Amino acid sequence: MISIDLNKRQEQILQIVKDKGPITGEQIADLLNLTRATLRPDLAILTMSGYLDARPRVGYFYSGKSGNRLLSERVRKLKVKDYKAPPVIVQENLSVYEAIVTLFLEDVGTLYVTNRDRQLAGVISRKDLLRATIGNKNLEDVPVGVIMTRMPNIITVEPEDTLFEAANKLIEYQIDSLPVVIPVDGKKNAYEVVGRFTKTTITRAFVEMGKEDSI
Ligand code: ADP
Repeated sequence: MISIDLNKRQEQILQIVKDKGPITGEQIADLLNLTRATLRPDLAILTMSGYLDARPRVGYFYSGKSGNRLLSERVRKLKVKDYKAPPVIVQENLSVYEAIVTLFLEDVGTLYVTNRDRQLAGVISRKDLLRATIGNKNLEDVPVGVIMTRMPNIITVEPEDTLFEAANKLIEYQIDSLPVVIPVDGKKNAYEVVGRFTKTTITRAFVEMGKEDSI
């Protein structure tokens, strides 16, 4: 966890360690006219958040990382698997009409389509459905398989990918959602769908990080 906003005493400790490190907790306490026990929580915060490194019998030394650098390191460690939402999966023969109803009932913007082997076959977005409704009266007769974006043109992410890589794909390909998939062994373009990754996922992660104050 990161404390970007250090308190005054933590700033003082950081400065002392920058100037004099490696330095023991005892020595820092002496310089600040405080007891070692009083300093312990501050030292814990500074080491846990990565500002300081501590080595037994050597003492504390400055890690040389700025708050921004620590934050970007932290962001790059967040994994898709820890933030993904459940996928909403439909079959190719579902009608456009039923797909629209599903979108409302499930409160999502994108549906994922799987084939008989339960592997990813397509993606249907809001605009795909809107496009299909223009000039088309028989929405119950048109299967989503006809209007969906198909494999192998689907951009996906895997659970172990970082949130950062996934967010980059959303921007790069100008799409709202990425199926989270696990490749099926030995088969090209065969994926099991295990989650949904959307712009909301990123927003949620952002809000959660903002809430994490100091430890
Ligand atoms: P919206 O339709 O609300 O603008 P998107 O921007 O996600 O939503 O979709 C734009 C187009 O990109 C649609 O035709 C959709 O089928 C397609 N699309 C959506 N997600 C993906 C994806 N992960 N991979 C490939 N194409 C996608």
